[in-house]
Amino acid sequence: MNKSYDAVIIGGGIHGLATAYFLAKKHGITNVAVIERKHVGYGGSCRNTAIVRANQHTQKNVGFYKEGLELWPELMNELDFNMMFHKCGIMDLLHSEDDISVARNSVSTAQFCGVQSEILDRHQTRELVPELNFSEDITHPIIGSMYHAPGGILRHDGVTWGLAKGAASYGVHIHQQTEVLDILVEKNKIVGIKTNNGDIKTPKVLICAGGYGNLMAHKLKIGLPIHSLTIQACVTQPLKPFLNTIVASGAYWVYANQTLKGEIAAGAHMDPWPNYTTNTTPQYLKHLTESLVEIMPCFKGIKFMRHWSGLADMTPDSAPIIEGNYPVKGLYMNVGWGYFGFKAGPVTGKYLAQYMANELKPSVLENFSLKRFENFLSNGENPYAYSYGPNN
Ligand SMILES: Cc1cc2nc3c(=O)[nH]c(=O)nc-3n(C[C@H](O)[C@H](O)[C@H](O)COP(=O)(O)OP(=O)(O)OC[C@H]3O[C@@H](n4cnc5c(N)ncnc54)[C@H](O)[C@@H]3O)c2cc1C
Repeated sequence: MNKSYDAVIIGGGIHGLATAYFLAKKHGITNVAVIERKHVGYGGSCRNTAIVRANQHTQKNVGFYKEGLELWPELMNELDFNMMFHKCGIMDLLHSEDDISVARNSVSTAQFCGVQSEILDRHQTRELVPELNFSEDITHPIIGSMYHAPGGILRHDGVTWGLAKGAASYGVHIHQQTEVLDILVEKNKIVGIKTNNGDIKTPKVLICAGGYGNLMAHKLKIGLPIHSLTIQACVTQPLKPFLNTIVASGAYWVYANQTLKGEIAAGAHMDPWPNYTTNTTPQYLKHLTESLVEIMPCFKGIKFMRHWSGLADMTPDSAPIIEGNYPVKGLYMNVGWGYFGFKAGPVTGKYLAQYMANELKPSVLENFSLKRFENFLSNGENPYAYSYGPNN
């Protein structure tokens, strides 16, 4: 570990590693350290269900995520690393007239931005996924779906390892088993960090600590509107390929897809209270299996192999906070990615690297500023502000 670096990134997840990679590759800033408390991918980056998509609700967000989606093949090519991108599409089931009107909004925005997304009726939905249960006699009968063909999944370990390899190949130092204990500031400017392996001098620190980002900001007495909640996921035994797309239902609050290895990866809601544990619960598994079997009875009897959890760092408008030189000079933050930050890791890293190199915020990141909360503005992804706090 050097005594000083041009920039230090806290967190060896997809966001930290992608930023390090682009800082080195695109801007020639290679004297960079990524500091990771455990091992690369320990956080959400290697715990997620790796779904990527670009059918968000607003024009600004769709444009950004579209670029993110298109970046995967390019990235695999330049890193020469197989991240197992499987463009299998995403089907959001619709169960009510309300669902249809919300989907119509999303589809119009997506189509306006040149992103493939459409509404399928019952018949078209059945053609795509014949295993679905179209009975009227279930909790939420299926009346159609919103289908987004360019969405898909990747192998999350592959993405993290690929980015780590790419960053390291340009000379970035990745220090694992090294915990950042404090961020050092003098006259409102970043001057370094304190770790359990010694201090490092640096004029730029980027917080990319996932579910622990809020705790890092607290070291500087910065209160962020973020609560971390546990979110669980599980994977079944491998099966012969039968499910060609990701199937999700907001009403059942459940989603599932078949990976290239044949396993069914499935997920559901977050635990409804803030906490920093990564425990799994039987209630979650009960909800998930009952819902899945109701939507797709062929899931009955399939054995789960693994069940795990991670943290989702939630902001009130379900959009991240990407900020620089505010409120402390030299401090950059990329936090609040909740349960949706995997898909945007590389594209965010690309723009954040540009921001850190030029000290000018790229316009695509304006929508994610911390100041939006001070000005009572929402990113627009959610129609309402949610409270994920203890009194929600
Ligand atoms: C179960 C689950 C399912 C999900 N599904 C999806 C999905 O399908 N699609 C999607 O887009 N997103 C999904 N997500 C969200 C996504 O995984 C995260 O938003 C994303 O991984 C955040 O990446 P990151 O690099 O910011 O943080 P992380 O990957 O969490 O990395 C942060 C790192 O910081 C390290 N760290 C923390 N404190 C310190 C410290 N003091 N010193 C040094 N290091 C420190 C941690 O050890 C960790 O490795 C899911 C998340 C979970 C948990």
